[in-house]
Amino acid sequence: MSKFWSPLAASLVPYVPGEQPKDKQYIKLNTNENPYPPSPKVIEAIQAAANEDLRLYPDPTSGALVQSLASYFKVSPSQVFVGNGSDEVLAFAFAAFFDPAKPVLFADITYSFYKVYAEFYGLQADLIPLDEQFRMPLEQFNTRENGGIVIPNPNAPTAMLVPVDEFRSILEHNRDQVVIIDEAYIDFGGESAVKLVADYPNVLVIQTLSKSRSLAGLRVGWAIGSEELIDGLNRVKNSFNSYTLDRLALAGAVAAIEDEDYFQEITVKVNQTRDQTAVRLRELGFVVTDSTANFLFISHPDQAAEHIFQKLREQGVLVRYFKQPRIEHYLRVSIGTDEEMDVFLNVIADIV
Ligand code: PMP
Repeated sequence: MSKFWSPLAASLVPYVPGEQPKDKQYIKLNTNENPYPPSPKVIEAIQAAANEDLRLYPDPTSGALVQSLASYFKVSPSQVFVGNGSDEVLAFAFAAFFDPAKPVLFADITYSFYKVYAEFYGLQADLIPLDEQFRMPLEQFNTRENGGIVIPNPNAPTAMLVPVDEFRSILEHNRDQVVIIDEAYIDFGGESAVKLVADYPNVLVIQTLSKSRSLAGLRVGWAIGSEELIDGLNRVKNSFNSYTLDRLALAGAVAAIEDEDYFQEITVKVNQTRDQTAVRLRELGFVVTDSTANFLFISHPDQAAEHIFQKLREQGVLVRYFKQPRIEHYLRVSIGTDEEMDVFLNVIADIV
């Protein structure tokens, strides 16, 4: 606490991201990054952009990227908004759409940034408990009064997917509220809710380059929704920082979206490694939720998760442990290369 802090700064409980050790010795399976490098075309595009005019401000509309995303998703450019990582897009969406007079709805076990944003904007949150198997109780979102809804699909950290058409009922029951579907991990086997945008003006689908395009370091995310929603996001953005994406990020992001072959190749690889790792963990006695993401959510009946986490760490493998009610027996393990997962499995086999 400092006398210089505003009441707002003093009241905040910031999000704590996973550890990013300087020490490269660690096998890093703790922050859901992609183990493969980004497309070589991304690096070329960023280098070319660095040799251009960094003296000048970037395009405040991020027009080239908006255009690429519009073509990729077969929507109009007026239905696309881009930002500095999906975290920033989420922050703008909370500000633009959520009614402070009513609670925002999200699951009790979900991406913990939602709670941080709700507090930042002074919104009440009504937490919907996942069922015993960590399934999303969708019908609860139909009946509870709310000023907005946010659901990640697949959910984090459970890795579990809701079939996209099951969101239709929520969208119909909440026609006066915005329903955000956070698709940070959708490319690892799920079907996107972008197809619902044509039918529902209240759905906002948020995606990112951080996971399936291996670009967590570039900070690019986007939202697809009705023109009405995109206008709302632009109002917030242009009242805060009109240049959210820099010239390097813009160039790299366009190249990433255009290199579909590379994206498909590494995504298939990550999914294969995930499915093989899940089989081997089950053989070791672990409970593993059905994952449609680039991570696994695992628990062992005989060993405390915190103990496994510590032992893995001592052996140079970082995973994520959440000291949180209901999931304190679980670990979240990001999918690395086959070689990294072999090391992880050998180490964990000795612990359990
Ligand atoms: N949503 C979910 C569910 C996430 O797990 C993450 C990554 N921590 C994000 C959004 C944010 O991703 P980024 O800001 O890197 O796009």
